[in-house]
Amino acid sequence: MLHDEPALPCLNNLMKKQPVLTVPVERITWEGLDFPVSLDADWFAHWLKEQPGLDFSLEKPLTGNVHLERHDDSILLRGQLQGELHFTCSRCLDPFTGPLDCTFDLLIKTSRAPVPAQEMELDSEELEEEYFQGDELDLNVLLREQILLALPLKPLCREDCRGLCRHCGANLNRESCSCVAPGFNSSFAALQNLKND
Ligand SMILES: [Zn+2]
Ligand SMILES: [Zn+2]
Repeated sequence: MLHDEPALPCLNNLMKKQPVLTVPVERITWEGLDFPVSLDADWFAHWLKEQPGLDFSLEKPLTGNVHLERHDDSILLRGQLQGELHFTCSRCLDPFTGPLDCTFDLLIKTSRAPVPAQEMELDSEELEEEYFQGDELDLNVLLREQILLALPLKPLCREDCRGLCRHCGANLNRESCSCVAPGFNSSFAALQNLKND
């Protein structure tokens, strides 16, 4: 009877780290290549450990597809990913769960050949431009950047979140407090009415 070598725990940890999200550049042709992507809790945990300032976590894996296409000296990436994240409301500081849609068009130059000025103007209108050198395209870094761009700047638990009282810190979605500041409140209410019209 054969016995399997017991796996070393540290090796297990190493092998668990990230899904393989690198694409050999030679596989990207003008016909295009669809690369299915699923970013799970492990992938996010790995990222958030490296960038601890980020204030969100994963509820449902971010899944979708990245389409890669060769265009002369560039690679065109069209990505579409959907998932659900845990956010902290920027007004009331309550945690909440919300959808994240991450769609992007990205043009990556594979050489630093000078681009005619006219062409450059066209590119910069619709597409972000990046440079790349090497044999493998690492989607990890690219996807991190695109997810950051897709995140709401000021996440709100709901459109009309009433936030916290400036004086006593009460969560005004759940309770009302007695420290009324008439001047502030009335002008704020007027602003809100303007916005809602
Ligand atoms: Zn809120
Ligand atoms: Zn108060």
